[in-house]
Amino acid sequence: MSDRKLLVAGNWKMHGSLTFVKEMMTSLATMLPSKMNYDVAVFPVYIHLHEVINTKPEQVLCGAQNLSEYDDGAVTGEVSGKMLADLGCNMVLVGHSERRVMNRESNEEVAKKFAQALKYGLTPVLCVGESLLERQSNQTFDVVWAQIQAVLDLVGIEQLGLGVLAYEPVWAIGTGETATAEQAQEVHQFIRSQLALNDDTISRRIRILYGGSCKGSNAYELFSMQDVDGGLIGGASLTAQDFMAICQEADKLSQGD
Ligand code: PEP
Repeated sequence: MSDRKLLVAGNWKMHGSLTFVKEMMTSLATMLPSKMNYDVAVFPVYIHLHEVINTKPEQVLCGAQNLSEYDDGAVTGEVSGKMLADLGCNMVLVGHSERRVMNRESNEEVAKKFAQALKYGLTPVLCVGESLLERQSNQTFDVVWAQIQAVLDLVGIEQLGLGVLAYEPVWAIGTGETATAEQAQEVHQFIRSQLALNDDTISRRIRILYGGSCKGSNAYELFSMQDVDGGLIGGASLTAQDFMAICQEADKLSQGD
């Protein structure tokens, strides 16, 4: 494990209700230690952001799952980075594979969203990852790097370094099939070595999360890999117990276990 602070991020996707949010915030306030050597963030749907921001324990960060590539204007149904920042959000996911596939978000569009997040002081979490077909045809590195390169081309290495990366193999998201720790490490190491060609310091400093069926039982092994700096958690962030089980593994590692 590196000396970067681990981040455990819960992507709630289109799940939950106001009652769920209130209960989760109460549980996390009770269960999370007040001083943590790792970061925790949750990503509810837009309409629950306000409730999370107003009721979350201080040590929990809050992010949105998406943002518009535009500042404002006639873009019905979209929400801008400026609005998210105004509400008190800290972070925002960009390029989650579900949006890349279902909303046909291109690498270039995702890059614009990354830039918008930074423009308004939000930390973008850039999600990248290959499909099963792409992995089977040995395209993993090409696909992942093209997704990162588009952002690099638009904002440059300094700005990219202000974000967080999340490697999420599409075949592992919500499927129960986790990448092995070695498979995750291989891609994380590849990303870091490519970034090092642009800036060695940033490549060592940037956090690269793993996402894809991460849970309490596999988090320790994944997070203990040299280039894995935490997790982006979907399904296992939907109950306080499951999410806390992952946080506890991050805690053990950050204590130097
Ligand atoms: C995700 O939604 O980003 C994710 C990793 O989901 P899951 O943990 O359910 O695979």
